[in-house]
Amino acid sequence: MNISDRNIVPESAVSPEGSAAVTPMMKQYLEIKAANPDCLLFYRMGDFYELFFEDAEIASRALGIVLTKRGKHQGADIPMCGVPIHRSDDYLHRLIAAGFRVAVCEQTEDPADAKKSGAKSVVQRDVTRLITAGTLTEDSLLDARRNNYLVALVRAKASAPDAPSLFALACIDISTAEFRVMECDRLGLAAEIARIEPGEIIVSDALYGDPEIAGWLRELPVTPLTRDVFDGATAERRLAAYFAVATTEAFGTFSRLELTAAAACVTYVERTQLGARPPLSPPTREAVGASLMIDAATRANLELMRMLAGERRGALIGAIDRTVTAAGARLLGQRLAAPLTDPDMIAKRLDAVALFVADGLTRGEARAQLGAAPDLARSLSRLVLARGGPRDLAAVRDGLAAAAELARRLHQIAALPEEMAMAAQALVEPPIEVRAALAAALGDDLPYMKRDGGFVRAGYDAPLDETRSLRDESRRVVAALQARYAEETGVRALKVRHNNVLGYFIEVTAQHGEKLTAAPLNATFIHRQTLAGQVRFTTTELAALETKIASAADRALGMELDIFERLASLVTEAAEPIKRAAQALAALDVSSALASLALERDYVRPDVDRSLDFCIEGGRHPVVEQALQKDGGPFVANDCDLSPPQGAGAGRIYVVTGPNMAGKSTFLRQNALIAVLAQMGSFVPARRARIGVIDRLFSRVGAADDLARGRSTFMVEMVETAAILNQAGERALVILDEIGRGTATFDGLSIAWAAIEHLHETNRCRGIFATHFHELTALSAKLARLHNATVRVKEWHGDVVFLHEVVAGAADRSYGIQVAKLAGLPTAVIERARLVLAQLESVDRTSPARTLIDDLPLFAATRAAPAKASERDALAEALAALNPDDLSPKEALEALYALKLKAKQN
Ligand code: ADP
Ligand code: MG
Repeated sequence: MNISDRNIVPESAVSPEGSAAVTPMMKQYLEIKAANPDCLLFYRMGDFYELFFEDAEIASRALGIVLTKRGKHQGADIPMCGVPIHRSDDYLHRLIAAGFRVAVCEQTEDPADAKKSGAKSVVQRDVTRLITAGTLTEDSLLDARRNNYLVALVRAKASAPDAPSLFALACIDISTAEFRVMECDRLGLAAEIARIEPGEIIVSDALYGDPEIAGWLRELPVTPLTRDVFDGATAERRLAAYFAVATTEAFGTFSRLELTAAAACVTYVERTQLGARPPLSPPTREAVGASLMIDAATRANLELMRMLAGERRGALIGAIDRTVTAAGARLLGQRLAAPLTDPDMIAKRLDAVALFVADGLTRGEARAQLGAAPDLARSLSRLVLARGGPRDLAAVRDGLAAAAELARRLHQIAALPEEMAMAAQALVEPPIEVRAALAAALGDDLPYMKRDGGFVRAGYDAPLDETRSLRDESRRVVAALQARYAEETGVRALKVRHNNVLGYFIEVTAQHGEKLTAAPLNATFIHRQTLAGQVRFTTTELAALETKIASAADRALGMELDIFERLASLVTEAAEPIKRAAQALAALDVSSALASLALERDYVRPDVDRSLDFCIEGGRHPVVEQALQKDGGPFVANDCDLSPPQGAGAGRIYVVTGPNMAGKSTFLRQNALIAVLAQMGSFVPARRARIGVIDRLFSRVGAADDLARGRSTFMVEMVETAAILNQAGERALVILDEIGRGTATFDGLSIAWAAIEHLHETNRCRGIFATHFHELTALSAKLARLHNATVRVKEWHGDVVFLHEVVAGAADRSYGIQVAKLAGLPTAVIERARLVLAQLESVDRTSPARTLIDDLPLFAATRAAPAKASERDALAEALAALNPDDLSPKEALEALYALKLKAKQN
């Protein structure tokens, strides 16, 4: 959603003529709003953020809060709604999630100072923060276990009219400092965006309206921006300025397009953070093909990160996540979203997992240490942005302590695999003084906000201790004063109390009020307020004490805040090594978590090499297996060998037939998932697995509904199939589940037939094809690398028993009727279907009719049921009773009428 195209400030309101009519406050509001036209403006008034005009209407609708009005503007009521400060995070969260951007406008001077400069003047206000979906840092606005990316997208000017487009994208998570750039083509772009799942994408206005990608962009959280943000000429300079370096060359070589995207990202970050620069790692370049390419449809279909319905539980990530830190969970998500394609790098990750599998002691200790480590990266970024609190300092303290402990443990291991050796090194990089200073300064019980004070440990700073005891001492004096006044007045219920309006005051019940207002006590007690039940007073002594307490408390807080700043800048100066230590902790969490998973679920280390093999022995589906275990059922392990047959230069294609519910889809997906797991560097659910590295993974399901996008399911299926046939190479793995199901049988069969031929002859990829069309199994006679497999079932007294066992061969039939019976179709329908089937099968087993029998949807084959036997019998009896020779013409006619009536009654 975007509101930039709406100008919600009436033109005349900011023009000189119009301004005469508006109040000073409204004038200020309109000016600030005019400077932030594409944001909802949260305008601070006392304990509320108020929204006005159309902002108020939008927010009240989006948040379900009451729309009121305040004053008039040019004769019309000004719509208004407000959110209380203390609940603003919650409301912000909902507005951001709904796609809005919010500008937070605070009071930047003390209201008391504003009063001094005249009765009519308004408190100075300014926007202190722009909140957008891609630039969040607050824990309350973020999902701890997922990254939140901002992506800048640019396109190169076409070199020739028909040249394919080249894109670059830069991707930043300011809450964790990650920064990557890459180039890709149009198809790669869609796959990358599907992988990254950005919180916000920025593009130039021009690109936003470009027909090549406009339709696709509209479905994404896009913010169009003016072209200066995407200016190629100044890109390198802006990027260098962000990192305060003379040139970006030290970061590596980038194309002009990549620099433009990277610069756009940091420029937008600076704008939304109003000039502050969150700590970012220098951009790293992601080479094309470094990760397994998985397009959006395949990702959705394999349910890697979320189920088709949207939730994370039930998806692969949910089944394999054993991480104990939020940063670990984020890294696991990244690795799962982008499996590697370099066997050596995969092996390095697997080495780390293998060490944790083999060394239970280290694993146990690492998991315990990690469990105590807070979210170092996100606390760090808040501290650098001056948005941190005492608990963020404590997070750094505890995170660094865990890092040091873990490093100590790892350094005891003689032969650390490379990935872990690098992590162990990074863990000890942050300067020891930072941790020492934090440990010495911070108390045990920490407030959320630094302005609440009380976070510095007693004994850390002598002047602070002194001021605090002055403050506390005075509080004791107040207590003593209460006792003395009670004594002097003889009012035992006299209390010294405190509130924000009056400060300290003396309170007695109404019945004692008169006594204090009369002589002689009125010489001491000064009346302040009379309420229904109480009367309140002060004394010069109490007032003096109050000043003393307040100033001591103020001074103590001021000193604490100074200490906070000192500690925060210590942390900021060490941001780089702390960030690397945080990344190392996350990597160790992922390796040890995958090791725990492997042990718990009996996974093995896969062999990933540069061959074209794909040989899984005893493979299982990682999600279905766990789901079945909860219900007590065993999962049947299955082999799959798509390796090139002897002498062939390309891998095999399985054609899997078998009835509904036999386990075809499960078999297809489990092999794709095993490949994904292996290439992300995880052990896999199998007895043995050898995989020649896969560069592209495709998975499609026939006739999947895509009603939301309003396309015919068959059309979707064909568009997606076309993408595969055009793209898959010999390193691809293609999973096609009942393609061709969404149209008439012969159409579908023909398309499936041709698609298999194309995959076999032209794409020459490895693949598994599940189908209802048994005719397709005949293709194996013609295509050398085609292999027929079927999922076994057993017939038992007319029922079908699923064995879930994949064996060589073709299914002889679909068992549709048996499955329908299991599904609870009425017995009459089942019986009739059996009859029809027998009839059709007896006609000619080789004719196309056979295809119809097997694949026609069940109800298409059921014709109108014949009359019931009893009905037929009644008519037959009546007919039998007639003797035509005995009837007169009239009687015959009457008999005929009677018969007709009988038939009708039935
Ligand atoms: P199909 O695609 O052939 O219609 P599915 O793959 O959807 O069948 O499987 C149907 C159900 O059978 C699954 O939901 C699962 O519960 C069970 N199933 C599938 N494969 C296995 C297996 N290998 N072991 C045990 N149960 C299985
Ligand atoms: Mg299926």
